[in-house]
Amino acid sequence: TTVFVSGVTGYIAQHIVKQLLAKGYIVVGTVRSTEKGEKLKTSLNSDKFSYEIVKAIEEEGAFDEALKKHPEATIFLHTASPFHFNATDIEKQLIIPAIYGTKNALKTIKQYGPQVKRVVVTSSYAAMFPKDDTDATITVNENSWNAITKEVALTNPLFGYIGSKTFAEQAVWEFVKTENPSFDVSVINPVFVFGPQAFDENAKGTLNTSAEIINSIVQLKPDDNVPNIEGGYIDVRDVAAAHIIAFEKKEAISQRLLLSAGRFTCQDILDILHEKFPEYAANLPKGVPGSGKEATFAVLDNKKTKEILGFELRNLEQTITDSIKQILTNK
Ligand code: NDP
Repeated sequence: TTVFVSGVTGYIAQHIVKQLLAKGYIVVGTVRSTEKGEKLKTSLNSDKFSYEIVKAIEEEGAFDEALKKHPEATIFLHTASPFHFNATDIEKQLIIPAIYGTKNALKTIKQYGPQVKRVVVTSSYAAMFPKDDTDATITVNENSWNAITKEVALTNPLFGYIGSKTFAEQAVWEFVKTENPSFDVSVINPVFVFGPQAFDENAKGTLNTSAEIINSIVQLKPDDNVPNIEGGYIDVRDVAAAHIIAFEKKEAISQRLLLSAGRFTCQDILDILHEKFPEYAANLPKGVPGSGKEATFAVLDNKKTKEILGFELRNLEQTITDSIKQILTNK
């Protein structure tokens, strides 16, 4: 079975490919340049992996040629989407690639991929985000939707990213409703994704946006404040496994899988650093150990997702320990 993966050089996608290859699938991925494709091919070291170039997913017909070359691909995973908070033109750099990248993928599959049976789109918890994620009286589940408007999304890059994911996922379900495609669709909605890079050599310099949260804590100076980022966490290896289950299991058809293993604060991460890497952490701030548990959060109810997945999610300690081990061995 051949699986087509957009944005295959991404942090999450590299884990997806590794797991797909380990399970005996053949993988065709899209990358933005030959250089990036060759680098990943070398790391994967598998003749079951090949790549096609798709420079900009937002360009009309971006996936047409790549998919036409692979009439053997029966599964399509759309993971490519910009994830960063440094956009200077929010609409052009975040919102348009997210929405049109998604629409283009679906259109190409409908037109040139009649053999494709299952499509999995990587959305985000951003598309489910409640009015106040720290309000413990709110419950978020697989039916929740972020109410963000385009106007608000354009006000800053964080809202821009959140809006981009919300609007892109709306486009998915709109397509399913209006185009009545012959393939089945599942959507993956992860919270903050942590855990090691698929290959150790990638754990250098500035990391992808979510992994960089951990990396930046590892690099803190003794007198720095503890960053105030907090939310839900999920291990990247579990996110990759969920993408595979999403097309393997029929229970996942037409579902949104809300991937979260629990809540975290940067204080919690720092506490793990001090406990597991005491020598290294001696030069890091202490914050107020244990105070992370005072943070309040909306209730995240993903029972339905966990039932579909059917495997145990990694906890914060394991995710963070494995991330940090990799960062420190690369230092
Ligand atoms: P990465 O930034 O590591 O991966 C993003 C991938 O998309 C890269 O391969 C990137 O290529 C590609 N890409 C981005 N914009 C374009 C474009 N305009 N044209 C072509 N390719 C493009 O991020 P992640 O692996 O973390 O994210 C993967 C998916 O998961 C995204 O959809 C993201 O929104 C979603 N997600 C991530 C979470 C997280 O915490 N990491 C949480 C929830 C959802 P290149 O690197 O060459 O630019």
